[in-house]
Formats: sequence, C-alpha cells, structure tokens
Amino acid sequence: MPIPTLTVIDHPLVQHKLTLLRRRETPTARFHEVMREVSQLMGYELTRDLPLESRPVETPLACFDAPLLTGKKLCLVSILRAGQGLLDGMRTLLPSARIGHIGLYRDQETLTPVEYFFKVPEDIEERLVILVDPMLATGHTATAAVHRLKDAGAASIKLAVLVAAPEGLRNFYDAHPDVPVYAAAVDDRLDANGYILPGLGDAGDRLYGTR
Ligand code: URA
Repeated sequence: MPIPTLTVIDHPLVQHKLTLLRRRETPTARFHEVMREVSQLMGYELTRDLPLESRPVETPLACFDAPLLTGKKLCLVSILRAGQGLLDGMRTLLPSARIGHIGLYRDQETLTPVEYFFKVPEDIEERLVILVDPMLATGHTATAAVHRLKDAGAASIKLAVLVAAPEGLRNFYDAHPDVPVYAAAVDDRLDANGYILPGLGDAGDRLYGTR
C-alpha cells in the first residue's frame, strides 16, 4: 500500500549524488562532501511549500512588492550521529534556522532506539521542525525521535531521509501519519541486521570513517 505522506525526491542531481554515496569505493571525505551537497538539494524540496508574503522593496530603479518568507521559523533537528551529514548542507541553505540534536542509538539485539541526548530550542512549538537522519531502516529511531519532539511541544514536523526501507516507511507512517516524509530513494528491504538493501552501508561509519 502506498504511503500517502511520502515524497520521493527524484531530481536527477539528487539521484546521481545518491549513487556516489552508495558506491563502496567512495572515500570518507568525498562521502561527507556529497552528503552535504545532496542535503542542500533536498532542502529545496523540503521548503517548497514555505509561505511567502509581499513586502515593499526598493531596488535601485523602482519600488515594488516583493516576496519574502513568512510564517513559522525553522528548526533543524539532527538524529546523532549520522544526521549531522544531512544537517550540514541544510544549515547552509537555512542559516537562520535553530538547531536541535537527539541522541539515539540502536540496540543491536532488539533494534530498538535508546535515548542518550535531547536538546532542542525552547520555542520549538512555534517552529517548523525538519528532522534529518540519512537512513529510515526499521523506522523505530525516527518514530521515537518524533515522539520526543511532540512531547517537547513540536506541532509541525517534516522528516528528511536519504534512503528508506518499505518496512520503515510503514512503521513510521503508522505511528505518525501527520508527519510528511521526504526520501531520495525507497530501497528493497532490510537484511537480518536491520541494514537497508541495497542501501549505502552504515551512514555514520561512512561519514566519519569509523569502520
Ligand atoms: N543505519 C544505517 O546507517 N544504515 C542502514 O542501512 C540502516 C540503518
């Protein structure tokens, strides 16, 4: 069954860069660089529906009403540690956004998330939150992160991932049907260890060269 909240970002540049990230031989520094590039491109799509208002502007030649962003301010929230890779590029695109962090690791036996850090802006209820994590595998981590954000008062949330597994999308949608999900790709399935196939491996390890 299709996931009604899912947008797949099929822009050719995003798809090309995702393939570079998937390649086993892409070295750590290049992986970091391309992740940053792809997150900027994804940021365009994620912010496509931001509201605009007209404000008087004086150019060197004339005055006219020109569009400026209005509405909720933004907050980017990264799920540590791999989320940092997507955060970097989006922050370049949205320099005045506030930043939050959620530390969750996956228990390797139960594959369930365990929280070790949570810090978000105090006025999070007034902001549009863009939660970033490269891999939506089982969906448990993103689901737990959104529960925490909602508990903290966040009322308007979008989730941005690079690669999603169908199982993860379904689990996340069942828990949070009100949260739009943006992904560059939906892959085939999970392996026995909860990794996405074909995926790109462990996003954190590839980003930081830890394995
Ligand atoms: N986390 C990753 O980094 N990669 C996967 O494939 C699944 C979860």
